[in-house]
Amino acid sequence: MTQQQTAGGDVRLTGISKTYGSFTAVHPLDLTVPQGSFFALLGASGCGKTTTLRMIAGLEEATTGTVSLGDRDITDLPPYKRPVNTVFQSYALFPHLDISENVAFGLRRRGIKSVKKQVDDMLELVQLGDFARRKPHQLSGGQQQRVAVARALINHPQVLLLDEPLGALDLKLRRQMQLELKRIQTEVGITFVHVTHDQEEAMTMADTVAVMNGGRVEQLGAPADLYENPRTTFVANFLGTSNLIEGDVVSTGDELTVAAGGGRLTLPRERCSGPTAAGGRLLLGIRPEKISLAHADEADTVAAGRNRVTGRITDSSFIGVSTQYVVESPAGKALQVYEQNVERDTRLVPGAEVVLHWNPAHTFGLDAAQDID
Ligand code: ATP
Repeated sequence: MTQQQTAGGDVRLTGISKTYGSFTAVHPLDLTVPQGSFFALLGASGCGKTTTLRMIAGLEEATTGTVSLGDRDITDLPPYKRPVNTVFQSYALFPHLDISENVAFGLRRRGIKSVKKQVDDMLELVQLGDFARRKPHQLSGGQQQRVAVARALINHPQVLLLDEPLGALDLKLRRQMQLELKRIQTEVGITFVHVTHDQEEAMTMADTVAVMNGGRVEQLGAPADLYENPRTTFVANFLGTSNLIEGDVVSTGDELTVAAGGGRLTLPRERCSGPTAAGGRLLLGIRPEKISLAHADEADTVAAGRNRVTGRITDSSFIGVSTQYVVESPAGKALQVYEQNVERDTRLVPGAEVVLHWNPAHTFGLDAAQDID
């Protein structure tokens, strides 16, 4: 079933903020969620993501600012008058009603009598057509969450808000449901705004991710851009593991040369969000899977033009998909390196002297004057 629903336009938050007494949960925030996108608010517990979502829903009154949908200002509309529905972590299904009655609930409350076709379509959308007569307790957690999604979507919202909807599920089910929700969003074509503290979840599902920290959006972008081009240490560390090497810019141009890690490292200037003039202090970031290792006595086989630092393996663990090394180096006490397809007998062992090398294009530069999280 294709369930393209009424389009509502972009969700636009303008100067929206929330204070509780003297505490600011969300600092004035401007944010546009493009119509039809899967948008994630990502951050650690307490960063203000749920409060932001609840202000879109109208469940929380904004202290300042406006919420609009397309060209319509909905700031002063009560939740039930907004063309928005919310799915919560607690599925909040009615235990005494069967699945089809749960899904039909919103329509019946509005006095709509012939609901069967719509309910059947919704159950088909969430792939629960065979479960219509069951009670919620006869379903798994993931299935119950799909009922909650169907129950919200049957109201034809223009925006679906999801507040940690997968938080109660075990890891394997979470992964399945992430793909399932993404499929449903593609099928219905409406805007989804999804709150999560799980970076992998946000990156799997969303077209655009807003990384929140301390009541502010620290960076906004497509998952791959955030991962490859973080602009703050918080984002670099929150989205995966990064090695951060401190150094000083020594020459500048399209490519920056930085004295760091006991040698010279380079990076494209466009990948640097910190100071780029000579003398500027930077943290150079490199993701563990972008680094290769060579034995120190094979250092001359490393291709010219690659960034390189020396080091000694202090730990090595095989975790199935990759081998993870910890390396002590003049560039850092515990650099992380992930290598794939390492044959058992060629795995490096603690104590091995190595050269770490990587493509300068994969290096990103951050302002070292920021706090390191
Ligand atoms: P979590 O993932 O734990 O839900 P969150 O990022 O969604 O966290 P919010 O629920 O938005 O965070 O809360 C942001 C901050 O506002 C927190 O420090 C929280 O304690 C505070 N806060 C939320 N609701 C209230 C309230 N009603 N009164 C006072 N402080 C509140």
